[in-house]
Amino acid sequence: MPRTNASSPRLLVRSSAIHAAGCYTLDAIPRGRRFLEYDGARITKSAADERYADRPVTYLFGFGGKGDVIDGFGTAMFLNHSCSPNCETEEHNGRVFIRALRNIAPGEELLYEYNLYDSDDDTADCYCGAPQCRGTMFSEDEVKRQARKKARKPAKA
Ligand SMILES: [Zn+2]
Repeated sequence: MPRTNASSPRLLVRSSAIHAAGCYTLDAIPRGRRFLEYDGARITKSAADERYADRPVTYLFGFGGKGDVIDGFGTAMFLNHSCSPNCETEEHNGRVFIRALRNIAPGEELLYEYNLYDSDDDTADCYCGAPQCRGTMFSEDEVKRQARKKARKPAKA
């Protein structure tokens, strides 16, 4: 479990305009603070594919260089994606933390860029509402990869 201490902000999961549920902070979070761990069981990508083959919603977080994923369990899995995020994820010694990109005020929804990759479908549309919304939750590299893949296939009717 993530360590909590006096400096950890109080977080609240409630309904969000972006997606079903989101994670909000009740306290100010200073820029640069690692305030939450993306915790959960470490499993291989193939185990994850097997476990979630029939489920539309998963909370998997790819980390490390070997394609392992974290099967999210806890508050961090409720953070929504935004193309204009106020948080980022940071890997440290095999653990993944959520870190504030800027000073965050009490009441703000906590958001980071998912940078999704390695997906068989192309339905990760983004509705974050940011002026600079890219329209997708995939990473820039994944968008390019899918475009190349699509170019090799005949166009859909
Ligand atoms: Zn967006």
